[in-house]
Formats: sequence, C-alpha cells, structure tokens
Amino acid sequence: MTTAATATLPQAYDDLIQHVQQANLLGSSGSLLGWDQETLMPSKGLAHRARQLAQLARLTHQMGTDPRIAGWLETCEGSDAVTTDPHSEPAVNIRELREAYDKATKLPESLVVEISETTSQAKHEWAEARKANDFKRFEPWLEKVVALNLRKAECYGWAADGEPWDALADSFESGMTAAQVAGVFVPLRERLVGLLDEVRAAAEAGKGPSNAFNELKLPIDQQKAFVTFVAKAIGFDFDRGRLDTSTHPFCGGTHCNDVRLTTRFHEDNVNDALGSTMHECGHGIYEQGLLEQHIGTPMGQSVGLSIHESQSRMWENQVGRSRAFWSWCFPKLRDFFGDAVAGLDEEQVYGGANIVAPGLIRVEADEATYNMHIMIRFELERALLKGDLAVADLPAAWNSRYKEYLGVEVPSDTKGCLQDIHWAMGAMGYFPTYTMGNLYAAQFFEQAREELGDLDAMFARGEFAPLRGWLNENIHAHGKRYKSAELCEKITGKPLSADPLMRHLEGKLRPLYA
Ligand code: ZN
Repeated sequence: MTTAATATLPQAYDDLIQHVQQANLLGSSGSLLGWDQETLMPSKGLAHRARQLAQLARLTHQMGTDPRIAGWLETCEGSDAVTTDPHSEPAVNIRELREAYDKATKLPESLVVEISETTSQAKHEWAEARKANDFKRFEPWLEKVVALNLRKAECYGWAADGEPWDALADSFESGMTAAQVAGVFVPLRERLVGLLDEVRAAAEAGKGPSNAFNELKLPIDQQKAFVTFVAKAIGFDFDRGRLDTSTHPFCGGTHCNDVRLTTRFHEDNVNDALGSTMHECGHGIYEQGLLEQHIGTPMGQSVGLSIHESQSRMWENQVGRSRAFWSWCFPKLRDFFGDAVAGLDEEQVYGGANIVAPGLIRVEADEATYNMHIMIRFELERALLKGDLAVADLPAAWNSRYKEYLGVEVPSDTKGCLQDIHWAMGAMGYFPTYTMGNLYAAQFFEQAREELGDLDAMFARGEFAPLRGWLNENIHAHGKRYKSAELCEKITGKPLSADPLMRHLEGKLRPLYA
C-alpha cells in the first residue's frame, strides 16, 4: 500500500461527507416530488407542491452553504491523506465539494433574488412575445437577462485567456470553455454544411429513405409494451427504476436504485416514442451505473450534462438508429404490432428512423441537423455576452445563420429566435452540452467498437450487455473522478474531435441518400 492510502483521513473529511450525504437525502426527496409533479400529481396539487419544493430547496441550499463547510474543506485541503493522489476518492470529493461550495456562496443573495425575479417575469414576457411574434416585447427582458448573466459571470470569474461565457457554462459542465467548444464546433460546422448540402440535393432529386414508417398510426398501449420491451432488452433495470409517461420526457429519480424515466407517445409517431425511450434509458443506465457506496457524494454523481447526454445519444442514435439494431428489432416490431406493420420492410423502417430534413425548430430536428441549431445558439449567446452582438440585432443575426447553415428562411421570430425558453429562464452556456454530448457519444462509441469487436453483430443478435458493461466500467463507475475533457482523453487517447461524429453521420447518411 502507498503512504497516501495508509495515511489517516482527518475527522473533518468524515464530518463533511456525512453532511453532504444528509443534504443529498433532502435534495433527492425533492427530485421525487418533482417526478411526481410531472407524472401522477393531480393538477390542483400544484400550489402546495410548489411550497413543498421551495421549502426543500431552501433547506438544501442552507445545508450546502453551511459555514462549517469552509473549515472542513480547509482542513481536508491541508491533509496529505486527501491530496496526494488527485484521482483518489477523497481528493475528488474535496475538489468537487470545493467547487460546489464556492459556486453556492459566491453569488450575493441580492443577485440571486434579482435573477429569480427577473427571469420569472422574463419567462412570462417571452411566452407572450412568442405567441404574438413580437420580439420587441421580449427585447428589454433579454437585455436584463444578459446583463444579470454578466454580473453572475463576474462573481464566478473566468481564466485570463477566457471569457464570461466560460464562467456560466461551468455550472452545466465543469471546465467547459467557449474556446474549447468552438475548437470542435467550427470544424464540425464546416463538414456538416457540406453533408447537409449533399442530402438536400439528393432529397430534391427524389432520393432518400421512405417516410412510410413515420406515417403509421399505432395504438398507444401497444407502443408502450414495445418500448418497455426495448428498454429491458438494452439493459435498463426495472427492479431499480420505472418508465412512465410525461409531456416532456426526462430522467429523474433519487438514487442509483431508484431511477425514474419518462417517455411520450403519439399515435402517429412510434419512432419518437422509441427514440425518446432509448434516449432516456441511456441517461437511466448511467444513473444505475453509479456506484452505490458513493451515492450522495461527488464520486457517486455523473460528470456533467455533456457526458450525461453522450450516454443518452449513444443509445438513441449510435445504437437505436443503426442497421444492426433494426435487423434485431424489425421482427419484434411485427410481434408487437402485427398486421399494422405488415406492409413495411426492414429497409423502410431503418430508413424512416434516419430521415434528415433541415428545418426551423430545434426540438423537431433530426440527428444531423440538430447540431446546427445548437451551434447557432452557441455563437449568438457568446456574441451577446462578449458585447459583439446587441440584443436588438439578434433576430437578423439568427435568421442569416439559419439561411447560411441550414438553408432555410425564417418566416417569423416565433419560429426563429423566440422558439426556446432557455435564455428567458436565464440559462446561457447550456445549449452546447447537447452537441458536446453527440460528439462524445460518437468518439466513445468508436473506441468501444475498437475494444469490443463487432458491435453490429452483437446488436443484430440483441446483445447489448457488452456495450453497457463497457460504459459502466469506463464512464459510470468513476462518478466525477475525471472532468469531461480528461475522461475523453483517458478513454479514447485523444482530445474531443468532430471527426468521429462526422464519420458516423457521413457513413450512415451517404448510402441512405445515394
Ligand atoms: Zn438528454
């Protein structure tokens, strides 16, 4: 054993860990109430539920900013037993708890209150402006949101070679910077524009997959049985989780042994139900893969939003939209839906799951064009925060990018820069985590294929355990041990790059649109 392993941890470490585990008991109880609100709660329960959640949030915040934490952290940071190996369990826990404590205590309470009050009004103004296609109405509120975000960024601070965006993004993905994101997004955009031009030309020439799969009307109870079967098959553990229905699918829960997924159903869109279910299963399999002995501490938490999204996107796209998956799943479709799918062949279903159509709306976008929607938002919010773009000029900047990157004319701000709630909620630095997730998914998946062998042959046989086990071992079990960029280097031996995602998209879409 090394000296570090035998050295005794200070009592402060035990006290701190016990304290954060207790805070987690409160916080995770709030998660369960939140899940209930979206799935089962009767509508008239809303007002009382809001009070319950606010009270829990207050208590959790109080525990997270308890002044004793500063002393415990200082003692631990001065202890060799904690710091000698930076990737050891205590070192990781202390590093992450320090970050969380500084975040929770760096904002003056007056600013927290001002942000909360302003964004609550801004959300309302945004909803009205969106309804009326009236950007001018939202404009002063977005100006306030940008100004408040700048003040928040100043409280957090950023590196000398960085910018305000970095300070905000850090709350969603620790360590993520605008320069790092742009370093991957710019080459991605250049190649993606080319691929989308090819796809558009092919579609205009009448080439591309059939849409028949997406036009089927299938009973919702049968769809439920089908997606539940797929969720079990890919390895979501129903003894340690549930799958329910909500308007917006999400993954919540309280613990690695109690993970709550939701999905949604439309009679005429089984593809959406399957995609949403596999996506949330990816999040859920990550949560179930965290180690029980670390729950309530950073070592038992996911790295951040980008890596979480890499897990959901991998199961949704790299697995669920692959030809191999459909050669296993197509006969199952027949088992579950019988005559209703009798007119379809495997090629039509696989093609239908992979149709690409540049459009205006992010949440309706396909696997390839989705990333363009994100890049546009990243470029614009970065420019707003840097002062390179005035809020008044946002609609024109938005529309010209949609034309340039996606080839679409934006007919109204409602279908343009007013479509998303995120900025009105005050969330800046959030959007890129979606595309970072796609990029990490593609890079991790290439590595898994290299290490595990013929994944396609496994999927075609319905064998998903090898991939799941690989993700458990390389990603889930580490909790927050590594930051996302570091994790990527450790697993794949390379920094994050646009190449694996482009290889994945080009390799799939070129033959489909040939
Ligand atoms: Zn997701």
